[in-house]
Amino acid sequence: MPPTLALIAHDGKKDALVQFAQEHLAEISHFHLIATGATGKRVADATGLDVERMHSGPLGGDAQIGARVAEGLIAAVIFLVDPLYAHPHEPDIQGLLRLCNVHNIPVATNVATADLVLRGLTP
Ligand code: PGA
Repeated sequence: MPPTLALIAHDGKKDALVQFAQEHLAEISHFHLIATGATGKRVADATGLDVERMHSGPLGGDAQIGARVAEGLIAAVIFLVDPLYAHPHEPDIQGLLRLCNVHNIPVATNVATADLVLRGLTP
């Protein structure tokens, strides 16, 4: 089983994540991809890659990915947050970021960092 890369983007950042996925198609295709619901659909449609989809973020998708982080099943998280909007599931967002820090899992919250994380994970 390849390592798992988790992908999440808030609505204002979904275009940026799709562009990132398209530009890094060769690299991300080496991972098992999981994503929150709407993000996963956007990435799968844009790239043709298989993406395991969790619930949508507001319905618990971030929490599901957080659980995988806690279980040691995630190599890295790319979570493009939109800092200009409030989110109803802010506690879940903070929970996921917290679990990445508890378990020392790389978590990129903007494209510049995502680029560096992906480079660091690609042989
Ligand atoms: P979504 O969830 O991919 O289902 O939109 C992301 C989020 O808002 O956390």
